[in-house]
Amino acid sequence: MAEILIEKVTKTFGDKVAVDDASLTIHDGEFLVLLGPSGCGKTTLLRAIAGLGMADSGRIAIDGRDITYTRPGDRKISMVFQSYAIFPHMTVRANVGFGLKMRKVDKSEIERRVNSAAELLHIEELLDRRPSDMSGGQRQRVAVARALAMEAQVLLMDEPLSNLDALLRLEMRAELKRLLADINATTVYVTHDQIEALSMGDRVAVMRDGVIQQVDTPTTVYEEPANHFVGGFLGNPPMNFLDGKIASNGTGVEVRVDEHVMHPPAGIGRMLSELGGDHVTLGIRAENIETTAERVDEGFPVRVHVVEPLGSQNLLTVDVGGHQLKVSTHPSFEAVPDQQLWIRFRADQIRWIDPESGMVLYDRTS
Ligand code: ATP
Repeated sequence: MAEILIEKVTKTFGDKVAVDDASLTIHDGEFLVLLGPSGCGKTTLLRAIAGLGMADSGRIAIDGRDITYTRPGDRKISMVFQSYAIFPHMTVRANVGFGLKMRKVDKSEIERRVNSAAELLHIEELLDRRPSDMSGGQRQRVAVARALAMEAQVLLMDEPLSNLDALLRLEMRAELKRLLADINATTVYVTHDQIEALSMGDRVAVMRDGVIQQVDTPTTVYEEPANHFVGGFLGNPPMNFLDGKIASNGTGVEVRVDEHVMHPPAGIGRMLSELGGDHVTLGIRAENIETTAERVDEGFPVRVHVVEPLGSQNLLTVDVGGHQLKVSTHPSFEAVPDQQLWIRFRADQIRWIDPESGMVLYDRTS
């Protein structure tokens, strides 16, 4: 059992608030990814869990045991660093067993654990070689093997794949996911790569400027982002945002996007009235926009700006009024620049966002 509780953790460096009042529970055996742009505080939070940089305030507990001020070596965690931090002139065997030797673990036990970790990472044949003459992928495996050999219940990983080339990264991503599911350790994994986060994590915690924005399953953070930032950060292309003008139509609220009138769900309409603003932001994913060559009911006429064939889909940039939208279509859908097309989307696939707070409005009544 290893549940990690992070409660109101704040960490500053001078004037810079690197982690701001972060609270998060990571369940036993869970693979949680900390995701966010460079400098958002991911590593700082991970290091606070590791005990490598004490939090200024707040509390961290593993299985109910408060470890906020416990020395790193007594926290029963192991960590994989972005730089791997392996010793180039020591054999792989010595590297993988290094932490265990420091802890004065019995020699035969070290041997057992080194062999077992090497087997899991498929590096048995490398055990007597030195990392100095190995590839990036092999070094990365050595670093993970060393962490696994500790047999800790909590595994912390800081961008472990970022030094690998794209193809190897793809391979290792799947392999690591499978491996971590098998060993069932509670894992906290830091990355700024959204594909890595969505594809590997049981849940993803999205951070910005030291603040955790949303914690949920990959599907939910992608399809139901909690705010403008999460929608715009996740996805390739990111979520489209349109400016809608709110108008009262006597019986309720309607939203105009340029010349086009949209009717938000009743609950959202009530919230928009209560907020009292003039505008609302509409968030919509490229793949949720239907594109047709012919006029359709409730469709918007758009003009094609750019066509990008991406193999599995065509990505179109289209102009609608003063906005540009990214729209994905089947690769067989033919479009050329300057052509007029029609787009439409379903009201239930729109995120209605308060432009003031950037927060998504949830219709609790439907
Ligand atoms: P990256 O993906 O680039 O590693 P990150 O999300 O992990 O970024 P952190 O490394 O946690 O971000 O840094 C958060 C903020 O704290 C940044 O503004 C960074 O400059 C600052 N920071 C981190 N460590 C220190 C330090 N030791 N001294 C001063 N400022 C620091």
